[in-house]
Amino acid sequence: APTPIRRALVSVSDKTHLEVLAQILIDSQVEVLSTGGTYQALEALGVAVVKVSEYTGAPEILGGRVKTLHPKIHGGILALPTPAHEAELRLHGIAPIDLVVVNLYPFRQVVAKPGSSFEDAVENIDIGGPAMVRAAAKNWQRVAVVVDPADYARLGEALREHGGALPESLRRSLMRKAYAHTAAYDAAIAGYLARFDDAGLSLGTDVLPERIFVAGAAQGELRYGENPHQPARFYATELAAGEPAGLHRAVQHQGKALSYNNLLDADAALGLCRDLSRLGLAAAVIKHVSPCGAAIARGDESLADVYVRAREADAESAFGGIVALSGPVDRAVAERLAESFLEVVIAPSFSPEALALLAGKKNLRLLSLEDMLVGTGPEAQAALRLRSIAGGLLAQREDAVTVAAAQGKVATRRAPTASELRDLELAQIVGKAVRSNAIVLCKDGATVGIGGGQTSRVEAARQATARAGARAQGAVLASDAFFPFRDGVDAAAAAGVTAIVQPGGSVRDEEVVTAADEHGLAMVFTGQRHFRH
Ligand code: 5GP
Repeated sequence: APTPIRRALVSVSDKTHLEVLAQILIDSQVEVLSTGGTYQALEALGVAVVKVSEYTGAPEILGGRVKTLHPKIHGGILALPTPAHEAELRLHGIAPIDLVVVNLYPFRQVVAKPGSSFEDAVENIDIGGPAMVRAAAKNWQRVAVVVDPADYARLGEALREHGGALPESLRRSLMRKAYAHTAAYDAAIAGYLARFDDAGLSLGTDVLPERIFVAGAAQGELRYGENPHQPARFYATELAAGEPAGLHRAVQHQGKALSYNNLLDADAALGLCRDLSRLGLAAAVIKHVSPCGAAIARGDESLADVYVRAREADAESAFGGIVALSGPVDRAVAERLAESFLEVVIAPSFSPEALALLAGKKNLRLLSLEDMLVGTGPEAQAALRLRSIAGGLLAQREDAVTVAAAQGKVATRRAPTASELRDLELAQIVGKAVRSNAIVLCKDGATVGIGGGQTSRVEAARQATARAGARAQGAVLASDAFFPFRDGVDAAAAAGVTAIVQPGGSVRDEEVVTAADEHGLAMVFTGQRHFRH
């Protein structure tokens, strides 16, 4: 049986639940060694505690840079329970330490603070803490290491259950967590430093770092991947500060756990809705990561009406859809949501009435993400996006429509009208979210036909106009890349399209513009392509 814990070292920056730990230390009558701030906090909680500096005879120096880096501490942690090591400890007057409770300087929180300096960041790199955590974890057979205040409770339970000792299974679990903790900590430091060049200048958001450091914590097991025979998990990563809020921060109000496909679709819905919200109150409906309907408010239209127009853009596809809404869900919105079968709804908030109304839909997952629109402005940093291929990761900054139709170059005799420009921008934003080749038709602040994932542009145009049907009459069109031939323009004009936005840049631009002029269309070149692969 493992020997009871007799001596603990406690040095924590995050003093959450310290009263829980204090009670455990008192109850199990362990001797406690502690550093300055933690010493004071534990003493105030009634724990009989000894200062590390008193025990070692070496004061804390250099403003706290050196507190626990001493052979009496590291020898006490690293010694094995062998006669040779025990003799050495006695020779040097070192007492064995069998419990290490440490959490590290709050590096991530400090660098996430707006206006924090490089010097602040460097000063918040913990040195002694990781050394103790790694030492204790290395000696896990004898020493237990706790890095997370959420583990105090199970520490206390285990001590009570095992007469003051800790079972091997718990020590092993704590050891795994400890190395994950120090690895994530160093990844955060390296990730922060990768944002600066050799002259110490910030690289900004155009430049991707030379290396990326990904430390992910699994957010619980997913039932399966895209299909039931594929194992899957979601790992929440912290790549950079200042990125828009992710789904791992959303609150789920009802429904089954989010599946792999739900997470992909909800992320797509959230991203599209966030982009659209620049144009006003917005609703996006996603199926299999593809937008099937999107709408923005006309005048002071209510969110309920905006949502209905997004759904009715392609009611057939919206069945089983994933919906993102840019405003709070009240009773009126909830009533419209309840009219059809949906998988997920995500919005900044749900009123108690709305929640009550939707409670009957047992399988509908409701997610609120209060700050879902934070970081949507033009000043916001585009998120770093990672995808994997065999052998590695691909990274890029998320695509953004930075040249809206209104800022583009009019290539035709006719320029778009104000209302055409608004619909063109809507079509551009939706088009960016559609897999290439993509053609999007919009009218009166809503999509009417989306053609995407096609291997030829003319087929994407045919699909979009076919889906729009009679609604193509008077609609506008966005194309994610240039028209290589006039055929796509001819097809759009035949369906009733009146204005087109596209990057331009084809060797046959002249032929394409001539076709547009022949049909009396307005055409804008943005010079900006929006492929999505
Ligand atoms: P306290 O609030 O007790 O004064 O400080 C606790 C923090 O100091 C913990 O986050 C711990 O990881 C850190 N720490 C402990 N020993 C050392 C050391 O020798 N050097 C540095 N830089 N940090 C230490």
